Amino acid sequence: MPSTDAVLRDPRLADSLAGLGRELVKARIRDAQGRARAGDLPADEIVDAVLAGLPTAPVSLTRVLNATGVLLHTNLGRAPLSAAAVRALGEAAGTNDVELDLATGRRGRRGRGALDALRLAVPTAGDVHVVNNGAAALALAVTALGGPGRTVVISRGEMIEIGDGFRLPELLESTGTRLREVGTTNRVRLEDYLAAIDETTAFVLKVHPSNFLVRGFTSVVPAAQLAGHGVPLVVDIGSGLLAPHPVLPDEPDMTTMLAAGADLVTSSGDKLLGGPQAGILGGDADLVHRLRRHPLARALRVDKLTLAALEATLRGPRPPVTEGLEADADGLLERARCLADDLTSAGVPAEAVRSVAAVGGGGAPGVDLPSAAVALPERFADALRAGRPAVLGRVTEGRCLLDLRALPDSDDPELLRLVIAARERA
Ligand SMILES: *Cc1c(COP(=O)(O)O)cnc(C)c1O
Repeated sequence: MPSTDAVLRDPRLADSLAGLGRELVKARIRDAQGRARAGDLPADEIVDAVLAGLPTAPVSLTRVLNATGVLLHTNLGRAPLSAAAVRALGEAAGTNDVELDLATGRRGRRGRGALDALRLAVPTAGDVHVVNNGAAALALAVTALGGPGRTVVISRGEMIEIGDGFRLPELLESTGTRLREVGTTNRVRLEDYLAAIDETTAFVLKVHPSNFLVRGFTSVVPAAQLAGHGVPLVVDIGSGLLAPHPVLPDEPDMTTMLAAGADLVTSSGDKLLGGPQAGILGGDADLVHRLRRHPLARALRVDKLTLAALEATLRGPRPPVTEGLEADADGLLERARCLADDLTSAGVPAEAVRSVAAVGGGGAPGVDLPSAAVALPERFADALRAGRPAVLGRVTEGRCLLDLRALPDSDDPELLRLVIAARERA
């Protein structure tokens, strides 16, 4: 059995030691030595086993190919970044002029590039601001404008839970602000709101129910009718569409909401916008200024990486979420046919089928996106999840469907390789 030090000196491990550090490599060596002692690994294959078991970076996150057909999958980290945004992360990672004016050598406005790009994208916003996530945007608004003794008027049909137990009303109340609930689960009228507004009202809040639908005997009050009653109208659109999108005509967007009279709109950066996790605020310049100057704003401030990825998402080519949203169903079916043909040739029982994809918890509830998938026997689901990178499909009616809508076509060769490799384990 070679000693740990002897294995560490093997030149084949030099790159890994430089890139991953000693401790990570040593841990894998000990694992391999243990397997060799148990007779599961020939002693002269220890270095190969170590190399095979090492990650490419000292991080425990495992890459997962999203073949679920859910464009924004919360458990998979929501929006994947565009290649341009990934490059921007690399550029921004070192020291840079995020808060410096290189022309004068004086302090500059933090993140001005990203903020300028946002202002361009939302022409109806007097000003914009960026915080850590959508929840932080709302927390900042309610803390700065509400607080003890103040109330927020909200419809009972919009008291929503987002996921992982996050309940929006609880966030609002945690600031000491009281909720003045109006209407019922299914119906609310303008008079309900007007009767609830009084001298304690901080603002009227309209929330987009982004992950469920209420159908039947329902009524809601559009933002245009809620604006202009002497108190600010704040709208949480959730999804992060900055402008209307033809594929999702019912999904609210920031530009239109502000044009309709909203004073402040909040949304997420990593849903339909397709960028990094962030909370985006746009609206009346004085209101946005008040929020930016509030002490809590500092605690919710985003780092230079977020600012860089957000700017690249806004100024650069279409991010993967938008590409997935706009992909043509026949084109997806053609991709599925090519993959299924290659898999069949490799001895994997595969078939191209039409399927139905969804936007996901990030927006557009109830919208079916026609899609296409590679159908495999169900047993492939576990085997694909155990692969590295992992592949997450969708199991329906005894089959494992690999839906292509959320998967960039540049991933097809890797998907093919991973399915063929999973055949051994399936
Ligand atoms: C997703 C969502 C939030 C929370 O945004 P995060 O970025 O996850 O913090 C708030 N409100 C609505 C309507 C949402 O859809």
